[in-house]
Amino acid sequence: MARCNVCFRHCELPEGQTGFCGARKTSGGIVRPVFYSRVSSLALDPIEKKPLARFHPGSMILSAGSLGCNLHCPFCQNHAIAQQIREGGFSVPTEEITPEELAEVAVRCRSRGNIGLAFTYNEPLVCWEYVRDTAKTVHERGMLNVLVTNGCAETGILDQLSPYIDAMNIDLKGFTDRYYRETLGGDRRMVMDFIREAVQRCHVELTTLIVPGENDSESEMRELSQWVAGLKNVSGGRQGTDIPLHISRFFPRYRMREKNPTEIRKIRELVRTAAENLRHVYSGNC
Ligand code: SF4
Ligand code: SF4
Repeated sequence: MARCNVCFRHCELPEGQTGFCGARKTSGGIVRPVFYSRVSSLALDPIEKKPLARFHPGSMILSAGSLGCNLHCPFCQNHAIAQQIREGGFSVPTEEITPEELAEVAVRCRSRGNIGLAFTYNEPLVCWEYVRDTAKTVHERGMLNVLVTNGCAETGILDQLSPYIDAMNIDLKGFTDRYYRETLGGDRRMVMDFIREAVQRCHVELTTLIVPGENDSESEMRELSQWVAGLKNVSGGRQGTDIPLHISRFFPRYRMREKNPTEIRKIRELVRTAAENLRHVYSGNC
């Protein structure tokens, strides 16, 4: 039996058993990643698509995804790579790409405006060892690393990664424990601790997807943005009020198809509310 220390679930796993995320299992008495170096998605994207609005704007970034996630958001647009593995398998093609090989792909994309590598699409921290090894190799080649994460991980993982990560986009999906626990299968306090630490170590932007009837009240956005504004020791000598927040529109998909897309009017209203506390608030998917 071994215990996984990546997220709040702390799965206790007998030899050969896989944890809730489907991406870590006990082997030789240690919990290890199941999909180390297994890449499911690779694309050269504008950095604004991560989304990062204030980190090398106008540049491109090679974006790589693997398999698995420790949350179960019912609207997950990447469920084929993030959630299917937990439900008994996956149907997407994957490729083995070592850290060195992936870093070399990033280097080859330089001529197309690429500044480095983004770990994204599924939840990268369920295989943080690959993120660490690859990001280190990317740095050795003089390029940058971006992490796009749900932030539902122990801060000890951040200690392992932060020497190599230059920017993050972290989801702050809402500001109630109920929404995190019951709808997403996450832990809001863990995400808040992760964000509190991450902002001290590199450039961080946050994303909140607004789901009608779930996390769309003005009071919740006011509370969320006030908390962000109050974060201390932000890297680069910035204030909490300088942390960019992306407020995004929901579209029905996966297991949440009964709701309508978030009204653009609602996004604009919440952007105005957040802007009472934060200097850089962006609307997304509008
Ligand atoms: S990362 Fe996966 S295996 Fe580890 S505690 Fe979280 S859900 Fe369990
Ligand atoms: S955290 Fe992201 S990848 Fe994971 S289930 Fe939620 S939306 Fe999908």
